Amino acid sequence: MTNHHKTNCTVCGKSFSMSDLRPGRFVRPLMADRISADHPEWNADAYICHGDLNHYRSQYVQNVLASLVEYPSRIDPVAQRVGDDERDRLVDGKMT
Ligand SMILES: [Zn+2]
Repeated sequence: MTNHHKTNCTVCGKSFSMSDLRPGRFVRPLMADRISADHPEWNADAYICHGDLNHYRSQYVQNVLASLVEYPSRIDPVAQRVGDDERDRLVDGKMT
C-alpha cells in the first residue's frame, strides 16, 4: 500500500511526500533560527523540503567558514591545519 499523502513545505510552499520533508524539530537549532528568521511561520511542527534544507545548510556552512577565517592571525600553523581539516569535513560531510 502506497501512501500518497502530500504535505506542504512551509518554506517554499510546494507539496511533497513525507519522505522528502524534514520536521522542524529535527533541524539543527542554528539552522532552524536562520529558517525562522526568513519564514516566521516556520516552527518545530512545520516541514521543510530537502532542497530548502540544503540551501540553508550551505548558508550555515558558509557562516561557519567565515567565522573560522575571521581571525587567521591568531591561529598557529598546527591549528590552521586542523582548521583546514575541519573546513573540509564541514564542506564534504553530510551535516544531518
Ligand atoms: Zn521547500
